[in-house]
This record gives sequence, C-alpha cells and structure tokens, in this order.
Amino acid sequence: MSADKFSRRRLLQLALRLPLFAAAAPLITACSRSGTNCADPDLLTTSEIQLRKTLEYVELAPDRPENCVNCEFFTSETDTASGCGHCELFNGAVSAGGYCTSWANS
Ligand code: SF4
Repeated sequence: MSADKFSRRRLLQLALRLPLFAAAAPLITACSRSGTNCADPDLLTTSEIQLRKTLEYVELAPDRPENCVNCEFFTSETDTASGCGHCELFNGAVSAGGYCTSWANS
C-alpha cells in the first residue's frame, strides 16, 4: 500500500510539472537560437556558405565590441527574443552576437 501511495504522489507531482515544461519550451528554443544557428546550414546555398566562409562569419563573437547587432548591414527581426536578425550582405539570417570581416559601424 505504501508503494502504491508513493506512486500516486509521484505521478501527481509529475503531472503538475508538465505545464511548466510546456511553458518553458519556447524560451528554451529562443535561448538555443540566440547564440548559434540563426541560419540553418542545410538551407543555405553553396555560394551563401562560401560567402560566410570568405568573410569569416562566426555566430558568436563574445570578445569583440563589433557584433552584427551594431553593424550597418544588420536589421533585427520582429521577434528580437530569438537573437537573430538579417544581414544585407549575406541576404540572410545572422546572429546578433555574430561577426564577420565586413563589419561596418552603424
Ligand atoms: S556584415 Fe558581417 S558583421 Fe555585419 S551584419 Fe553582416 S555578418 Fe554581421
């Protein structure tokens, strides 16, 4: 009987936590996108990948004051929580914390 009571209690505890996990899922997704993979590499063309390599683009440049977010070519998306924006040079998504050698002060 004791084990049965424990099982019900444990099941109830887990059931109460489910809404919390569901509510946190979008936040976790946004956080995981903020530093990396704003542009899905599988969706980029060969020339887009080459341009990013040529300009030494990185998704996260934490040690630099120059980042995509303060670059002339960067425009943020409406969903700023994603940490992603649009680069005019790449004509595609980049990370706000990213950097490339074509950075220009905005
Ligand atoms: S030009 Fe480079 S630094 Fe500027 S937004 Fe595009 S990728 Fe970022």
